[in-house]
Order: sequence, then structure tokens, then C-alpha cells
Amino acid sequence: MSQENSELKRMRISVSGTVQGVGFRPFVFRLAEQFALKGFVLNAGGAVVIEVEGHQQYVQNFLTGLTCEAPPLAKITSSSAELLEPRFDEERFLILESDRTFDCEKSVPPDCATCQDCFRELFDPSDRRYLYPFINCTNCGPRFTIIESFPYDRQRTTMSTFQMCGNCADEYSNPADRRFHAQPNACSLCGPQLQFVTAHNVVSNCTDGALRETVALLRRGGVAAIKGLGGFHLCCDATSDDAVRLLRRRKHRDEKPLAVMYRSIEDIESDCVVPGAAQSALCSHQRPIVLCNRNATCTLSEQISPGLDRIGVMLPYTPLHYVLMELYGGPLVMTSGNVSDEPICIDNQEAIERLSPLCDGLLLHNRAIAARYDDSVVLADGAEQIYPVRRSRGYAPEPIVLDSAFGSVLAFGAHLKNTFCILSGTNAYVSQHIGDLDNLDSLSHFEESLERFLHLFDLKPDLIACDMHPDYMSTSLADDWAQKLQLPLVAVQHHHAHIAACAAEHHVEGPVLGIAFDGLGYGTDGSLWGGEFLVCDRASFLRVAHLKAVPVIGGNVAMREPWRMALSYLRCHSELEWFASSLAGQIDNKRVSSLLKLLVTLDQTDPLFNVTSSCGRLFDAVAAVAGIRYNASYEGQAAMELEAAARRGQTCGSQSLIDTSFSLDSVVVETSQLVVNAATQRMRGVSPDLVALNFHLALSNIVVQKAHYLCRNFNLSTVCLGGGCFQNLLLLNLIRDGLREHGLRVLVPQKLPCNDGGIAFGQAVVAAAKR
Ligand code: ZN
Ligand code: ZN
Ligand code: FE
Repeated sequence: MSQENSELKRMRISVSGTVQGVGFRPFVFRLAEQFALKGFVLNAGGAVVIEVEGHQQYVQNFLTGLTCEAPPLAKITSSSAELLEPRFDEERFLILESDRTFDCEKSVPPDCATCQDCFRELFDPSDRRYLYPFINCTNCGPRFTIIESFPYDRQRTTMSTFQMCGNCADEYSNPADRRFHAQPNACSLCGPQLQFVTAHNVVSNCTDGALRETVALLRRGGVAAIKGLGGFHLCCDATSDDAVRLLRRRKHRDEKPLAVMYRSIEDIESDCVVPGAAQSALCSHQRPIVLCNRNATCTLSEQISPGLDRIGVMLPYTPLHYVLMELYGGPLVMTSGNVSDEPICIDNQEAIERLSPLCDGLLLHNRAIAARYDDSVVLADGAEQIYPVRRSRGYAPEPIVLDSAFGSVLAFGAHLKNTFCILSGTNAYVSQHIGDLDNLDSLSHFEESLERFLHLFDLKPDLIACDMHPDYMSTSLADDWAQKLQLPLVAVQHHHAHIAACAAEHHVEGPVLGIAFDGLGYGTDGSLWGGEFLVCDRASFLRVAHLKAVPVIGGNVAMREPWRMALSYLRCHSELEWFASSLAGQIDNKRVSSLLKLLVTLDQTDPLFNVTSSCGRLFDAVAAVAGIRYNASYEGQAAMELEAAARRGQTCGSQSLIDTSFSLDSVVVETSQLVVNAATQRMRGVSPDLVALNFHLALSNIVVQKAHYLCRNFNLSTVCLGGGCFQNLLLLNLIRDGLREHGLRVLVPQKLPCNDGGIAFGQAVVAAAKR
């Protein structure tokens, strides 16, 4: 034996995190070969187990390489190593079959955009996958949208129905190849194919022909339904007003912004302002929709995002998109393939039935989608900061890692922008965006996704959490599941959950001062909250201050009719008359006067009956008073347009911070003066843009002073922001900067959305802490 026994070492290393389906085993194989080590590597549950044997210096080098040179998509969250007795009996290093008996923490990489190598091959005429729309490798391609069960192997994915051809099989079994164990590996001879159909017939059965038909349809100004990674898109020419109007009319989506896909980052930059953070998000392998400002020469139809200065743009993320965009050239609307508010379509037959009335043809493929995944949406702020607005494809189900183990809790989230969350040990698995739980289809999407998570990650919650709102669909689902699984149910206050989510994401236990500003959430007193200052830790909270509560009449109708909120705020002020008369021609006179009568009687009845301290409704009121929006066609529209107006106001130069006097020690933060001020400015002829800006400045000034005062009083140094209002970057930055000037530490949700999409995580954290 050439080696001294004393220098021979054998180690077992167990690595968990995102280590399956990312080329980790071939990487281990090459590393072991490089150092002439023997042993094996295998997938075990969700972990990778490695045993290496060889010269101790080489084993050491191997360990260093393992962490420093891991493949781009791999994310090691924990690893352990133990010394074993050398075996002497191995000939070489082997990649062994997956072992299903190991019980380890499970993690799947989310779906990943086409990598540089595959991109090059896709457009290389000499490559055997030239223009093949399903090219992929271990560094890219579908993952979570094709997995049926663990461990991640081809036979447990929706690719199991495709038999690899000789060439593909060779790549798949060659550890030196980039496609070694790339589960969705395929080529035009053996893999999925495209098809172009209409409601009644198959127009083209070959991939080339189907693409040509689709492009021709789009050029004619038609609407195409295109099967993507996690569902269908509805697609049309984004520069044509007629095409976009047609799509809006069929989809029943009046004004809500539509996302646009561009061929290249250069093309995006010629239409939009793309700051550094937006650029890196656009080009990241998650490929989210990024909200960017239009520039002056933007070629897109005004119908894409009426009234707003931002548009949601993205780059291709599958080879199919790349080929399509290359053939088509210009920007295309890519909006989820559904009728407004229903879940995104994934199945071919389902799509033909449900989407045919909405489109002029469907581009299908025969790779099944195992899970619905909408596109993710992020907001980019300046050079560095990214805020998620919708966390879905590319991000979920990667767990949020906590600072300590919280036990196993299943949280059902909110009613709108629903996600659910399962805590398990130090991992929080937050589902992809499920959407608004307003119809039966979205409920089945919820249950289908929940069952998939429980099954895939083998999770067994022992506690269930939900919102306090008795009318949320998620609350009654939680009730059903708690009975079915015979588990205790904990109802968590909405805004406490918002703040707990922010704090826990930043590994802060509290107490902190939480500022939770959102649309509406059920308060412990039965009224609707939404402008809250809470002193809270994980288990409990104290409502130390809140924005003034005003009557909200008509519940959900009020959300669609901001003018009603303006009447509520102005009802005890002399500006009411001016505003009511300014509604003439906008709103039916009779509706205005009957609401005014109702408001008078309301003030004399139960003070808690239908009042709200919501910051979102305050924005509605100001948007109406400023003349920016009286009726809204989607949630948050008035607030978004008010923000856009305020940003325009910033470019006008003159800003006047109107001094609003309010008492710092009162629990109620007087906000009706802000609405009154907006009205008096309008009466004096100040432009809507400046009114909007002044409102932002005055509100943030009040909030900063109040928060500073509360922090001093309660001896706190950290402020957590939560709730959908903080998607307003102007408000967020004004408040954050103001608080920082007072020496306070300000935390903002960064991994999960600040809106209700992040609330399930907060519910789970609170429920676990209360236990
Ligand atoms: Zn690739
Ligand atoms: Zn093949
Ligand atoms: Fe909320």
C-alpha cells in the first residue's frame, strides 16, 4: 500500500438545503475525482450524503471545495461531518441511487430561468437543440412545477412519460456532462412538443408550425393563450391599444396593470427607467416581474397601466419564451391565463375550455404542470433594494430560515393575496401566491397546493393558525382543517401578524414598535383596523395608537368607491359642501345625498359600528378629494394613483409641508385634518399632483413624530413596518428615513411581501409563540 494508514481518512458528510436537482451530485463526483478520493454520494430524503476516503490532506481539500465551489443554484443551509473507519474496499467514487429511507429535511429548488449555456445552445444552428423550446440542464429549467414526489428523480416528475433518446440518456448518465441527472433533460427527438389549437381544431401539430401560427396571430392583433412553466398566459401585442383593449375586455380586467415581456434587457431599457436593483432582479434566475417607471419615449400602449407611472416588465424565463420573443421581436403582454380573479389555468383541456372564449388560439405543449405558479412581482427601489409584492415562481417554495425552531404550525393566511405557511423546525415554507379566496376555484387551488406541500415536504403540523376575521374564507378553511386533523386553532390579529412577520424575517424577537398600515383587518374590538401602532413581541401586542377611525359604509363597496371615504372624513368639516358639489357629474346625486344622511345618523349610534382606522381608506379619501380617483376598478388603485401623482408632484419643484398640529400623547392620530387640508388646497387651485405630494409629506411627518414619541415612551429602539400601504415607496422612504434620523432601527419585509401575501408567516410565528 502506497499510502500510510495513518494518513488515510474516511468521512461522512451530510449536506442539506437546496442540494437536489441543482447539479450537486455531479459536482461532488468531479471534486472527489479531482482529489483521487473513493466513496460515494447519494440523495437521501432532501439531503445529500457523501462518504469520501483518501489521503487526509485531500479529504481536507475536498471539504473546502465543497463549500467554496458549489454549483450556482445550490444553497447549503446546514451540513455535518463525522469521521468513519476506512473501508479500503472501494475501487472508485460512485454516484449511488437515491435512498428513500433516510429521513432528512427536504428542499426543492424553485424553477429556474434558462442558463447562459442553454441559451447559447438554443440559438446555435449547429447544436442539436437549436430552437428546441424545452432545452434545460442541471443549472436551469423546471423544478417545482414538475415534481410529483420526493426524492427529486425523473420518474417522480411529469417528465416520466418521456423516454430519453440515446443521446439524452448518454448525457444524463455521464457525470462529466452538464446534463448529468438533469431530470427534465430532453431534446426535439424525445421530449415535449408544441401544438397550436383553436377551440375546435388542431391547427399545427409540430413545434415549428405551432410557433409560426402563434406569432402570426399576435401580429394580426389577436390574443393567444400560451402554456408556460406554472400555468397559461394570455398574450398580445403590448404596443397596440386595440390588442390590449381586446384582451382587457375578454378577461374582464378593466384597468388593473398588465405585465409585459421583452426580448432583452436593452429593449426594456429603451422603454423604462431601470435602476441597478431592477436590472439585477430582471436578470436574476428567478426572473420576476419588476415594476419600473415608464420613460418619456416608451412605446407601450397607454392601456397597459392606465393612470400609473409604473409598468411590470420581465424577461423570458423559459426557452419557449426565448424562441417566441426572438421570432416576434416586440414586447408582449403576458398576463395570467384566467378570467379576472380565478386561478391560473394549467391543464390543456381545462385551458381549451376556459380560455378559448378569451383568446384566438392556444399554444400548448405536452409536458404536464404539476403545480400552479403565477409570476412573481417585485418592486425595485434605487440601486440596491428589492421588495417582493407577489412571491411565487422562482422564489417559493424555498423556505424562510428562522433563528430558532418554532415547532410545526400550519397558518392559513388572509382572504386576499392568500398564501399559506407551514413552520417546521427552523424552516418556514410559504406557499406560492394562491390569490384572492373569492371563488370555489381558488379554494380548490388552496387545498390542492396545501396537500401537495404537506405531502412533498412530509410535514405534520400540530397547531393551526388563522386570521381573527370571522368572514375570511381562509378562516373557515382553517376551522375545517383543525377539525379534520383534530388540532388546536389559534386566531391571530391581522396587524400583529403583519408586524410579527417582519420581525421574524429579520430574526428579531421584540418587543418592537410595529407600524401596520393596510387596507382592512379585523380588530380585537370588532372594528376594522388598518392604521395601527402596536408594541409587540411574538406572542402578544398592545395597540398603543391608531389613525383616527371613521365610518366605512357599504363594506366592500367602499373599497371600490373612494368618494365615500372622502365624505366620511369630511363629514364634520365645512369643506364637505365643496367636495359634495365637486362630485356632481362624477357620481349620481341621489347616492351622494343618501350617503350624507346616513353618515349623520351613524355618528349617533354605536361608535364601533363599521368604523375603520385604515390607512388604505385614508389614501382613498385623499385620492377622491384631490380629484384623482372617485371609483376604483381594482384593490389599491386609488392609492397607487395617488402615489404616482405625488411622484409627479416631486418634479414640479415647489413643495409646501403643511403643518398639521396634533397631540402626540393621544391614542388617536388625528388624520381628518389631512383630508381637510387636501380639500382646501384643491379649493385654492393647487394641482392634484402637489396635493398628493403634500399629503404624503404631512402623513409621514405625523407618523414619524408619533412613532418616535412612542419609542421613547416604551423604551424601544426598533420599528417594524408592515401592511400593503408600504408598497408605496414614497411613503415607505419618507417614514423610514424620518425614523432613522431619530436614531431608530427600521425593519421592512424583504423576503416576503409586506402585503397580505406575507401574513400567513406572521400568523404561524405568533401562534407558535403563544403556545
Ligand atoms: Zn441550462
Ligand atoms: Zn433526446
Ligand atoms: Fe393586511
